Amino acid sequence: MKYDLIVVGAGILGLSHAYAAARRGLKVAVFERSATPLGASVRNFGQALVTGQPPGPMLQLAKASREIWAHWAERAGFGLQREGLLVFARTEAEEQLLEAFVQRRAAEHGYQVALLRGTALADLYSGQFAHHRAALHGFEDQQLYSREALPALVDYLRRELGVDFQFSTLVRDVQPGTVLSTAGRFEAGQIVVCAGHDYQTLLAEPLAALQPSVCRLQMLRVRPRRDLKLRHALLTGLSGVHYGAFADLPEAAAVQAQILEQSPWLHEHGIHLLISPTPYGELIVGDSHEYGRDASPFNSEQVDNWMLELATDTLACQLDVVERWQGVYGARGRTPFTFLEVAPGLSAALMQAGVGMSVGPGMGEANIARLLGEDA
Ligand SMILES: Cc1cc2nc3c(=O)[nH]c(=O)nc-3n(C[C@H](O)[C@H](O)[C@H](O)COP(=O)(O)OP(=O)(O)OC[C@H]3O[C@@H](n4cnc5c(N)ncnc54)[C@H](O)[C@@H]3O)c2cc1C
Repeated sequence: MKYDLIVVGAGILGLSHAYAAARRGLKVAVFERSATPLGASVRNFGQALVTGQPPGPMLQLAKASREIWAHWAERAGFGLQREGLLVFARTEAEEQLLEAFVQRRAAEHGYQVALLRGTALADLYSGQFAHHRAALHGFEDQQLYSREALPALVDYLRRELGVDFQFSTLVRDVQPGTVLSTAGRFEAGQIVVCAGHDYQTLLAEPLAALQPSVCRLQMLRVRPRRDLKLRHALLTGLSGVHYGAFADLPEAAAVQAQILEQSPWLHEHGIHLLISPTPYGELIVGDSHEYGRDASPFNSEQVDNWMLELATDTLACQLDVVERWQGVYGARGRTPFTFLEVAPGLSAALMQAGVGMSVGPGMGEANIARLLGEDA
């Protein structure tokens, strides 16, 4: 069978490109080397964030992705929390950064946010977070449970849009028009490689020119000793020095100075606290960031302990660890994402920043429109 499009990789980028093509009526196949998606797209927090993306293309892609996630959740039948994001200010410097974001950047670029203080903060979750100075509430942010959402999305694409999936199938080589895999040779008018942070199996030479590196993150799933009934994705002001929406505001410098002075280990290990509720009352807690050409397999117990300490303080609740893992994503490219047209009919889509869940669906839409000449 000849396909209109073959996608390599069933992570969020691969599925997003498959969806964008199949909904236009193209005959699509997805090849994935594992039996179910196991890459970055199921190891993450499942935070699909609009607040946090820098103004410009990333913000536009995140807004477009938001609508696609909502459509998928409804059609594929997976849970999607739409109550938004809370970013807690624990210190005066963090509070000033959030205030600057709301007053200047949000007003200028249309982020849908509010700064909660006083009774508004005390009313949140019956006062559970009243020990913080303020909270930024982002209204456009969404939370999903990736390990359930991705398989549900695969089922939906197969069932409703006729996408063929070849799981447990390694693609060994791609050439314009042809995919060589462990299941044989297949032909397609267009091939898009969405292989995540594997830069060596396919298109190694053109990808090497991008000087890709990877980021390794330690992650935990925990059970709070009290049922918090959390429905929002949670961050603290620590993320203000990492996320593009905040990091270039002048007020971020004081947050960074405070980190370096009071807890330099957070900077050294790239730790900033993210907490995501799962549908079962547990929380995903992370993360640390270690950059390099390859991902070390060795987790640091100390890093986990620092993250747990931050989470315990932020939640004002004791936590029991249920599960630990590490995730890896492509990182530190010259641009946060790349669409590389290697030859007519052969391209690669890759993220080089840790926000593929937030912008991936919009990227798939934009790249397929470009391949089909819709934006010409
Ligand atoms: C711990 C962690 C937390 C994160 N949290 C968030 C978050 O909350 N929000 C957010 O927006 N982003 C988050 N990210 C980033 C986000 O998860 C990634 O940007 C995104 O998942 C990358 O998607 P992908 O499809 O490119 O890669 P992947 O999900 O890794 O998918 C690539 C797939 O390609 C397959 N593959 C590779 N080579 C071949 C081959 N030759 N043949 C067949 N199959 C192949 C792999 O098996 C894999 O399944 C996080 C990432 C991590 C690691």
